[in-house]
Amino acid sequence: MYAIIGGTGVYELNTSLENIEVNTEYGSVEVDFLEIESGEKIYFLSRHGKKHSKPPHLVNYRANIMALNILGVKYIYSTAAVGSMNEKYEPGDLVIIDDFIDFTKSRIMTFYEGKSGVKHVDMSEPYCSNLISIFLKKSMNSNVEIKGSAIYVTTEGPRFETKAEINMYKNFGDVVGMTSVPEVVLAKELGMCYATIGIITNWCTGFKNEIKFHDIENSMNMNKEKLTQLFLEIFKNDNIDQESCHCNNAVMNL
Ligand SMILES: [Zn+2]
Repeated sequence: MYAIIGGTGVYELNTSLENIEVNTEYGSVEVDFLEIESGEKIYFLSRHGKKHSKPPHLVNYRANIMALNILGVKYIYSTAAVGSMNEKYEPGDLVIIDDFIDFTKSRIMTFYEGKSGVKHVDMSEPYCSNLISIFLKKSMNSNVEIKGSAIYVTTEGPRFETKAEINMYKNFGDVVGMTSVPEVVLAKELGMCYATIGIITNWCTGFKNEIKFHDIENSMNMNKEKLTQLFLEIFKNDNIDQESCHCNNAVMNL
């Protein structure tokens, strides 16, 4: 089974989806889905809730990822709105997220809280290399242009960053967002393959023209539809497995 986690607004795209509510020990989650020819399902999860009502620091990341796990999802593509602090990446560009640095402060980061012993998850390849390479190959013959790869600095939000913070973060990464951690970590803990395409929606504070709020919406709208179509095409046509990545054996028992 497959899933697409959309940041802002992926929902408006699909009008003929069925809907299911999944109860997890962390809360219940509403998920839409469609069935493909193979009989498998592609699930759509709106990270911030269907009405975009949950700010990044209050998203129930554990419920979201556990719900997909309960539904049998193994492969997840997600989109994330990010600000750029790398001059190569401009608003409107798309980047592959290939690593992260975590500056969040108040989030629960794990499913492993000691009940089943002490466990650590390997983060040498947080985003699935196999899903990334399939996506890159597929994007070459499509209208989706990927500008390059990016390290994602995760901040707590919901406020934007100060100039001084961006001055520091730009030494560590290329883009800033508020949601990739702990989402990617939780997916890895459950052995799922997970990859993220970053949609550059604005320049970070102190960069060029700084943040313009209307930029965020315009840029998301331009890109979300083509990305979702490409994810769907991959899930429908490509044989994806976990043979060439380490996503399903990244948890170490100590
Ligand atoms: Zn994988």
